[in-house]
Amino acid sequence: MQLRNRVALITGAGRGIGRAIALGYAREGADIAAVARTQSQLESVEQEIRAMGRRAISITADLSAADAPAKIVAQVVEALGTIDILVNNAGVGSGPEPRPIVDFDDAFWDYTLALNLSSPYRFSKAVIPLLLQKKTGRIINISSVAGKVGLPHGAAYSVSKHGLLGLTRTLALELARDGITVNAICPGPVRTQANEQRVRYDAERRGITVEELESQITPIGRRLEPDEIVPVAVLLAGDSSAAITGQAFNVCGGLAMF
Ligand code: NAP
Repeated sequence: MQLRNRVALITGAGRGIGRAIALGYAREGADIAAVARTQSQLESVEQEIRAMGRRAISITADLSAADAPAKIVAQVVEALGTIDILVNNAGVGSGPEPRPIVDFDDAFWDYTLALNLSSPYRFSKAVIPLLLQKKTGRIINISSVAGKVGLPHGAAYSVSKHGLLGLTRTLALELARDGITVNAICPGPVRTQANEQRVRYDAERRGITVEELESQITPIGRRLEPDEIVPVAVLLAGDSSAAITGQAFNVCGGLAMF
Protein backbone atom coordinates (compact mmCIF):
# COMPACT_ATOMS: atom_id res chain seq x y z
CA MET A 1 0.00 0.00 0.00
CA GLN A 2 1.59 3.21 -1.19
CA LEU A 3 -0.69 5.70 0.59
CA ARG A 4 -1.27 4.07 3.96
CA ASN A 5 -2.72 6.51 6.54
CA ARG A 6 -2.58 9.51 4.22
CA VAL A 7 -5.59 11.81 4.02
CA ALA A 8 -6.58 12.82 0.49
CA LEU A 9 -9.02 15.60 -0.36
CA ILE A 10 -10.42 14.96 -3.83
CA THR A 11 -12.77 17.41 -5.52
CA GLY A 12 -15.36 16.15 -7.99
CA ALA A 13 -15.12 12.66 -6.50
CA GLY A 14 -18.76 11.72 -7.03
CA ARG A 15 -18.30 10.19 -10.47
CA GLY A 16 -15.91 9.88 -13.40
CA ILE A 17 -12.19 10.44 -12.96
CA GLY A 18 -12.46 11.83 -9.40
CA ARG A 19 -14.42 8.78 -8.22
CA ALA A 20 -11.86 6.43 -9.78
CA ILE A 21 -8.98 8.28 -8.08
CA ALA A 22 -10.80 8.29 -4.71
CA LEU A 23 -11.35 4.52 -4.86
CA GLY A 24 -7.81 3.95 -6.17
CA TYR A 25 -6.28 5.97 -3.30
CA ALA A 26 -8.45 4.15 -0.75
CA ARG A 27 -7.22 0.82 -2.15
CA GLU A 28 -3.69 2.10 -1.49
CA GLY A 29 -4.59 2.81 2.15
CA ALA A 30 -5.64 6.49 2.12
CA ASP A 31 -8.55 8.06 3.97
CA ILE A 32 -10.68 10.16 1.66
CA ALA A 33 -12.60 13.44 1.76
CA ALA A 34 -14.80 13.60 -1.34
CA VAL A 35 -16.43 16.82 -2.54
CA ALA A 36 -19.09 17.48 -5.21
CA ARG A 37 -22.68 18.76 -5.49
CA THR A 38 -24.61 15.49 -5.88
CA GLN A 39 -25.01 13.90 -2.46
CA SER A 40 -26.23 10.50 -3.69
CA GLN A 41 -23.08 10.00 -5.80
CA LEU A 42 -20.84 11.03 -2.89
CA GLU A 43 -22.65 8.66 -0.54
CA SER A 44 -22.04 5.74 -2.86
CA VAL A 45 -18.29 6.54 -3.04
CA GLU A 46 -18.16 6.99 0.73
CA GLN A 47 -19.78 3.60 1.28
CA GLU A 48 -17.37 1.83 -1.05
CA ILE A 49 -14.39 3.39 0.72
CA ARG A 50 -15.70 2.54 4.20
CA ALA A 51 -16.21 -1.06 3.01
CA MET A 52 -12.44 -1.14 2.33
CA GLY A 53 -11.83 -0.24 5.98
CA ARG A 54 -10.74 3.34 5.32
CA ARG A 55 -12.21 6.53 6.76
CA ALA A 56 -14.31 8.59 4.35
CA ILE A 57 -16.29 11.80 4.52
CA SER A 58 -18.21 13.58 1.83
CA ILE A 59 -18.94 17.26 1.58
CA THR A 60 -21.63 18.68 -0.67
CA ALA A 61 -20.67 22.05 -2.14
CA ASP A 62 -20.67 24.12 -5.31
CA LEU A 63 -16.98 24.75 -5.87
CA SER A 64 -17.52 27.66 -8.23
CA ALA A 65 -18.23 29.73 -5.09
CA ALA A 66 -15.15 31.63 -3.94
CA ASP A 67 -15.70 30.93 -0.24
CA ALA A 68 -16.10 27.13 -0.63
CA PRO A 69 -12.46 25.90 -0.55
CA ALA A 70 -11.40 27.45 2.79
CA LYS A 71 -14.55 26.19 4.51
CA ILE A 72 -14.12 22.69 3.07
CA VAL A 73 -10.47 22.43 4.08
CA ALA A 74 -11.43 23.40 7.66
CA GLN A 75 -14.20 20.75 7.66
CA VAL A 76 -11.84 18.04 6.42
CA VAL A 77 -9.20 18.86 9.03
CA GLU A 78 -11.89 18.81 11.74
CA ALA A 79 -13.15 15.39 10.60
CA LEU A 80 -9.97 13.59 9.49
CA GLY A 81 -7.24 15.48 11.38
CA THR A 82 -5.13 16.69 8.46
CA ILE A 83 -4.69 16.71 4.67
CA ASP A 84 -1.67 15.14 2.94
CA ILE A 85 -2.84 15.01 -0.67
CA LEU A 86 -5.00 17.50 -2.58
CA VAL A 87 -6.45 16.46 -5.93
CA ASN A 88 -8.05 19.36 -7.78
CA ASN A 89 -10.26 17.35 -10.11
CA ALA A 90 -13.73 18.96 -10.17
CA GLY A 91 -14.33 20.67 -13.45
CA VAL A 92 -16.77 21.52 -16.17
CA GLY A 93 -15.99 20.53 -19.76
CA SER A 94 -16.69 22.40 -22.97
CA GLY A 95 -19.76 20.27 -23.74
CA PRO A 96 -22.50 22.34 -22.07
CA GLU A 97 -21.97 25.49 -24.22
CA PRO A 98 -19.73 24.71 -27.22
CA ARG A 99 -19.43 27.85 -29.34
CA PRO A 100 -16.84 29.85 -31.28
CA ILE A 101 -15.37 32.74 -29.28
CA VAL A 102 -17.41 35.46 -30.99
CA ASP A 103 -20.58 33.73 -29.83
CA PHE A 104 -19.23 32.50 -26.49
CA ASP A 105 -21.52 32.74 -23.49
CA ASP A 106 -19.94 35.16 -20.99
CA ALA A 107 -21.61 33.58 -17.96
CA PHE A 108 -20.28 30.15 -19.00
CA TRP A 109 -16.82 31.65 -19.46
CA ASP A 110 -16.90 33.03 -15.89
CA TYR A 111 -18.29 29.78 -14.45
CA THR A 112 -15.64 27.65 -16.19
CA LEU A 113 -12.80 29.85 -14.98
CA ALA A 114 -14.22 29.93 -11.44
CA LEU A 115 -14.57 26.14 -11.20
CA ASN A 116 -11.63 24.89 -13.26
CA LEU A 117 -9.00 27.46 -12.30
CA SER A 118 -9.91 29.70 -9.35
CA SER A 119 -11.14 26.81 -7.23
CA PRO A 120 -7.81 24.88 -7.51
CA TYR A 121 -5.99 28.14 -6.71
CA ARG A 122 -8.11 28.66 -3.58
CA PHE A 123 -7.88 25.02 -2.48
CA SER A 124 -4.11 25.16 -2.85
CA LYS A 125 -3.99 28.39 -0.85
CA ALA A 126 -6.00 26.81 1.97
CA VAL A 127 -4.11 23.47 2.04
CA ILE A 128 -0.50 24.65 1.61
CA PRO A 129 -0.11 26.02 5.19
CA LEU A 130 -0.92 22.51 6.51
CA LEU A 131 1.59 20.89 4.16
CA LEU A 132 4.28 23.45 5.05
CA GLN A 133 3.90 22.60 8.76
CA LYS A 134 4.56 18.94 7.92
CA LYS A 135 7.20 19.63 5.27
CA THR A 136 5.58 17.06 3.04
CA GLY A 137 2.58 16.92 0.75
CA ARG A 138 1.24 16.36 -2.71
CA ILE A 139 -0.93 18.55 -4.95
CA ILE A 140 -2.25 16.98 -8.16
CA ASN A 141 -4.19 19.07 -10.63
CA ILE A 142 -6.34 17.40 -13.27
CA SER A 143 -5.72 19.48 -16.38
CA SER A 144 -6.26 18.09 -19.90
CA VAL A 145 -4.54 17.67 -23.24
CA ALA A 146 -6.64 20.77 -23.98
CA GLY A 147 -4.36 22.48 -21.43
CA LYS A 148 -1.57 22.10 -24.00
CA VAL A 149 -3.40 22.72 -27.30
CA GLY A 150 -6.39 24.83 -28.34
CA LEU A 151 -9.90 23.40 -28.42
CA PRO A 152 -12.22 24.77 -31.11
CA HIS A 153 -15.56 25.89 -29.61
CA GLY A 154 -14.15 25.27 -26.13
CA ALA A 155 -12.16 28.43 -25.35
CA ALA A 156 -13.04 28.68 -21.65
CA TYR A 157 -12.13 25.04 -21.07
CA SER A 158 -8.81 25.20 -22.91
CA VAL A 159 -7.90 28.51 -21.25
CA SER A 160 -8.78 27.21 -17.78
CA LYS A 161 -6.70 24.05 -18.30
CA HIS A 162 -3.72 26.02 -19.69
CA GLY A 163 -4.03 28.25 -16.62
CA LEU A 164 -4.05 25.23 -14.33
CA LEU A 165 -0.68 24.19 -15.76
CA GLY A 166 0.64 27.69 -14.97
CA LEU A 167 -0.60 27.30 -11.40
CA THR A 168 0.98 23.83 -11.19
CA ARG A 169 4.37 24.99 -12.41
CA THR A 170 4.43 28.14 -10.26
CA LEU A 171 3.45 26.28 -7.09
CA ALA A 172 5.99 23.56 -7.84
CA LEU A 173 8.77 26.17 -7.83
CA GLU A 174 7.43 27.97 -4.76
CA LEU A 175 7.25 24.73 -2.75
CA ALA A 176 10.21 22.81 -4.18
CA ARG A 177 12.35 23.09 -1.01
CA ASP A 178 9.48 22.20 1.33
CA GLY A 179 8.95 18.51 0.54
CA ILE A 180 5.79 19.35 -1.39
CA THR A 181 5.37 18.32 -5.01
CA VAL A 182 2.84 19.82 -7.40
CA ASN A 183 2.03 18.06 -10.68
CA ALA A 184 -0.70 17.89 -13.27
CA ILE A 185 -2.29 15.04 -15.17
CA CYS A 186 -3.48 15.81 -18.68
CA PRO A 187 -6.06 13.20 -19.68
CA GLY A 188 -7.18 12.70 -23.25
CA PRO A 189 -10.82 11.78 -23.86
CA VAL A 190 -12.08 9.66 -20.94
CA ARG A 191 -15.50 8.00 -21.01
CA THR A 192 -17.37 10.13 -18.44
CA GLN A 193 -20.55 12.19 -18.29
CA ALA A 194 -18.64 15.38 -19.12
CA ASN A 195 -16.85 13.85 -22.10
CA GLU A 196 -20.02 12.26 -23.48
CA GLN A 197 -21.53 15.70 -24.13
CA ARG A 198 -18.50 16.93 -26.04
CA VAL A 199 -18.10 13.73 -28.08
CA ARG A 200 -21.74 13.91 -29.20
CA TYR A 201 -21.27 17.56 -30.21
CA ASP A 202 -18.09 16.79 -32.19
CA ALA A 203 -19.68 13.81 -33.96
CA GLU A 204 -22.67 15.93 -34.99
CA ARG A 205 -20.43 18.81 -36.11
CA ARG A 206 -18.37 16.48 -38.28
CA GLY A 207 -21.39 14.56 -39.60
CA ILE A 208 -20.18 11.18 -38.34
CA THR A 209 -21.47 8.75 -35.72
CA VAL A 210 -20.17 8.68 -32.16
CA GLU A 211 -18.72 5.22 -32.93
CA GLU A 212 -16.85 6.57 -35.98
CA LEU A 213 -15.55 9.51 -33.99
CA GLU A 214 -14.51 7.28 -31.14
CA SER A 215 -12.48 4.98 -33.41
CA GLN A 216 -10.41 8.00 -34.54
CA ILE A 217 -10.31 9.85 -31.25
CA THR A 218 -6.87 8.67 -30.08
CA PRO A 219 -4.06 6.66 -31.70
CA ILE A 220 -5.18 3.66 -29.60
CA GLY A 221 -8.56 3.89 -31.33
CA ARG A 222 -10.79 4.48 -28.33
CA ARG A 223 -11.56 6.69 -25.34
CA LEU A 224 -9.87 5.96 -22.02
CA GLU A 225 -11.70 4.62 -18.97
CA PRO A 226 -11.57 6.57 -15.66
CA ASP A 227 -9.56 3.77 -14.01
CA GLU A 228 -6.78 4.30 -16.55
CA ILE A 229 -5.98 7.68 -14.94
CA VAL A 230 -5.45 6.09 -11.52
CA PRO A 231 -1.91 4.60 -11.82
CA VAL A 232 -0.30 7.99 -12.55
CA ALA A 233 -2.44 9.64 -9.84
CA VAL A 234 -1.21 7.05 -7.30
CA LEU A 235 2.41 7.46 -8.40
CA LEU A 236 2.25 11.25 -7.99
CA ALA A 237 0.66 10.95 -4.54
CA GLY A 238 3.17 8.48 -3.10
CA ASP A 239 6.63 8.76 -1.53
CA SER A 240 8.46 7.41 -4.57
CA SER A 241 7.68 10.55 -6.62
CA ALA A 242 9.49 13.02 -4.32
CA ALA A 243 11.75 14.22 -7.18
CA ILE A 244 8.90 14.72 -9.65
CA THR A 245 7.44 18.22 -9.50
CA GLY A 246 6.10 20.84 -11.90
CA GLN A 247 5.28 18.21 -14.52
CA ALA A 248 2.22 17.69 -16.69
CA PHE A 249 1.70 14.02 -17.55
CA ASN A 250 -0.37 13.08 -20.57
CA VAL A 251 -2.57 10.03 -20.10
CA CYS A 252 -4.21 10.13 -23.47
CA GLY A 253 -3.73 7.02 -25.59
CA GLY A 254 -0.93 8.70 -27.54
CA LEU A 255 -2.98 11.76 -28.55
CA ALA A 256 -0.44 14.30 -27.31
CA MET A 257 3.31 13.63 -27.20
CA PHE A 258 4.71 16.81 -25.65
P1 NAP B 1 -17.61 14.27 -14.65
O1 NAP B 1 -17.83 12.82 -14.85
O2 NAP B 1 -18.64 15.23 -15.11
O3 NAP B 1 -17.33 14.49 -13.09
C1 NAP B 1 -17.09 15.78 -12.61
C2 NAP B 1 -17.11 15.77 -11.09
O4 NAP B 1 -16.96 17.13 -10.64
C3 NAP B 1 -18.43 15.26 -10.56
O5 NAP B 1 -18.25 14.60 -9.31
C4 NAP B 1 -19.20 16.56 -10.36
O6 NAP B 1 -20.21 16.39 -9.40
C5 NAP B 1 -18.09 17.52 -9.87
N1 NAP B 1 -18.46 18.90 -10.13
C6 NAP B 1 -18.85 19.45 -11.30
N2 NAP B 1 -19.18 20.74 -11.13
C7 NAP B 1 -19.02 21.00 -9.79
C8 NAP B 1 -19.23 22.15 -8.99
N3 NAP B 1 -19.66 23.31 -9.50
N4 NAP B 1 -18.99 22.05 -7.66
C9 NAP B 1 -18.56 20.87 -7.13
N5 NAP B 1 -18.33 19.77 -7.83
C10 NAP B 1 -18.56 19.82 -9.16
O7 NAP B 1 -16.24 14.74 -15.30
P2 NAP B 1 -14.84 14.00 -15.54
O8 NAP B 1 -14.75 13.75 -16.98
O9 NAP B 1 -14.62 12.91 -14.58
O10 NAP B 1 -13.85 15.22 -15.23
C11 NAP B 1 -13.02 15.29 -14.09
C12 NAP B 1 -11.86 16.22 -14.41
O11 NAP B 1 -11.10 15.66 -15.46
C13 NAP B 1 -12.31 17.60 -14.89
O12 NAP B 1 -11.47 18.58 -14.36
C14 NAP B 1 -12.15 17.50 -16.38
O13 NAP B 1 -11.95 18.75 -16.99
C15 NAP B 1 -10.92 16.63 -16.46
N6 NAP B 1 -10.76 15.98 -17.76
C16 NAP B 1 -11.70 15.13 -18.21
C17 NAP B 1 -11.53 14.53 -19.46
C18 NAP B 1 -12.53 13.57 -20.04
O14 NAP B 1 -12.43 13.27 -21.21
N7 NAP B 1 -13.47 13.07 -19.27
C19 NAP B 1 -10.40 14.83 -20.23
C20 NAP B 1 -9.46 15.72 -19.72
C21 NAP B 1 -9.64 16.29 -18.48
P3 NAP B 1 -21.56 17.28 -9.33
O15 NAP B 1 -22.03 17.50 -10.74
O16 NAP B 1 -22.44 16.42 -8.51
O17 NAP B 1 -21.16 18.53 -8.63
